[in-house]
Amino acid sequence: MSEYEHVAQHLGEVKARIAAAAQAWQRAADDVHLVAVGKTHPAEAIEAALNAGHRLFGENRVQEAAAKFPALRTRYPDLKLHLIGPLQTNKIKQAVETCDAIETLDRDKLAQGIAAELAKGGKRIDLFIQVNTGEEEQKAGVLPREADDFIRRCREEYTLPIVGLMCIPPAEEHPAPHFALLGEIAKRHGLQQLSMGMSGDYELAIQFGATHVRVGTAIFGAREVINTQSSP
Ligand SMILES: *Cc1c(COP(=O)(O)O)cnc(C)c1O
Repeated sequence: MSEYEHVAQHLGEVKARIAAAAQAWQRAADDVHLVAVGKTHPAEAIEAALNAGHRLFGENRVQEAAAKFPALRTRYPDLKLHLIGPLQTNKIKQAVETCDAIETLDRDKLAQGIAAELAKGGKRIDLFIQVNTGEEEQKAGVLPREADDFIRRCREEYTLPIVGLMCIPPAEEHPAPHFALLGEIAKRHGLQQLSMGMSGDYELAIQFGATHVRVGTAIFGAREVINTQSSP
C-alpha cells in the first residue's frame, strides 16, 4: 500500500468543497479549476492524483517540475502543469518546455524573454501576470499601481498570450480585499482567469471569482521543506 493513498480521498474532498462553493456563489462548477500543487512531494504523490483522474498540477520551481513531470507526461499525455513560483530569466526555455502555463509573469525582462522563446515556435502556453496585491517587498509580482501599464505592454508590445492574473495575499492579512483587487484589475482588462486561493482560503477565493485555485497541503499533506517565498 502506498504512502500516498490519502491523496485520492483528499482530492475528492477538496473537489466536493469546490463544487459546493461554486454552487453557493452561482458559479458554473466547470468554471473553477483545481491546480493540485505537489511541490516537495515526490512523483509518486503526483501519480496517486493522476490515478484518481486528476490532470491539472502546479509546481513552484522549474527544476523540480523538470525532474518530476516529463516522465509522468509520457504516461499521462493529457496532464497540464502550471508554474506558480518565481521564474528566473535563465530558466525561461526550460519553463516553456516543461509547463503549459506560467502564472508568475511580473516584469519586462521576463516578458521579453518569454516572447523570444515563444517566437521560436512550436510551443503554446498560457500566461498569468502575478500582482503583488499586498505590496510586500520580499514578494514577487507587479505592484497594483503598475499593473495596468504592464498588462498593456505584455499584450500590445510583447504580444504575449495573457489569459489572467494571479496573486498570493500576505499571510497575515485577510485575503478578501486582495482577491477583490485582483478581480477589479482583471475586469478592467477583460481578462477572464483569476488564479487565487490556496488550502486555507480557496472557498473564499471562489466567492471572489477565482477560476484557478492552487491547493497543495489539503491534497498532498504537510510539506517537510518550506523553501520559497510563497510558502505559507
Ligand atoms: C505552495 C503554493 C500553493 C499551495 O499552498 P497550500 O497552502 O499548500 O495549499 C499555492 N500557491 C503557490 C504560489 C504556492 O507556492
